[in-house]
Amino acid sequence: MSAKIIDGKAVSKVLREKIFNKTNALKEQGIVPGLAVVMVGEDPASKIYVKNKATACQDMGIKSEVIRMPHSTSQDELLDVVEKLNKRKDIHGILVQLPIPNHINEKEVIERINPLKDVDGFHPENVGKLLSGNPYLISCTPYGCLKLIEHYGYKIEGKTAVVVGRSNIVGKPMAVLLLKENATVTICHSHTQNLANITRSADILVVAIRKPNFITGDMVKPGSLVLDVGMNRLANGKLAGDVDYNSVAKVAGWITPVPGGVGPMTITMLLQNTLEAVYEQENLLRK
Ligand code: NAP
Repeated sequence: MSAKIIDGKAVSKVLREKIFNKTNALKEQGIVPGLAVVMVGEDPASKIYVKNKATACQDMGIKSEVIRMPHSTSQDELLDVVEKLNKRKDIHGILVQLPIPNHINEKEVIERINPLKDVDGFHPENVGKLLSGNPYLISCTPYGCLKLIEHYGYKIEGKTAVVVGRSNIVGKPMAVLLLKENATVTICHSHTQNLANITRSADILVVAIRKPNFITGDMVKPGSLVLDVGMNRLANGKLAGDVDYNSVAKVAGWITPVPGGVGPMTITMLLQNTLEAVYEQENLLRK
């Protein structure tokens, strides 16, 4: 068997067309969606992510403002910038690009962002809303994973889902989203015993562990749907997922490649969240 490919680029294109149309409809009502991205320091990967986010906004007609601050920025200086953005009417979404330098308390910064503008979905209020089954802004990568599954018409309800990785950004919200869709969910982490026995039980397997090619074909249920969130830069410069694509594609029914699977969806869901934030702040009906 060879798994069908879940094409994140193609799904992103479809979703971005819808986002573009919605942005235009907002403009006809005199509303220009605005996203502010704050970057502290010179992390090379972050620079690329921030540039990609700004370009995606431009393509969609969303106004993006990138605020670059030096590595030496103090916690108070960063909080001050966040506060000013919280108050601005033309900025509907605020994102502080992580990681931020160690001398700044990340948790405090995230908690200072107005939850209505928290387009990353990291604020405790938004995490709580997701957990209580009434989500507003959802962490972009797991949200994108859900959209991928939905796009291909795969039925989640009643399925056994296993999420490997329990970060606040990916693993935990992913598990909650699958639970909300009525899957039976198991979360695995670095202390999990007999991991392969658990992953082999999964109809839906989501892997986000930061370990290149870790999940191999013998750890996967035949015919299952495998979402590989991992993005690991190898010594040879190539990008590898957390799933060993070649062996798993022979066993699974569906699989995301890396690159071109989950990756393109993350920025798309950021754009989607920015629109959600506009609707909420401008009291418009979602369309
Ligand atoms: P993270 O914060 O480093 O968390 C890794 C998780 O994996 C932890 O929960 C850890 O368990 C678990 N883990 C580590 N080794 C394990 C093992 N041997 N068996 C089972 N679980 C294990 O990572 P993250 O931020 O969630 O990111 C995960 C991956 O996704 C990374 O490769 C990252 O680059 C990628 N990513 C991609 C996108 C995208 O847009 N495509 C977005 C975000 C992240 P403990 O909790 O016990 O330590």
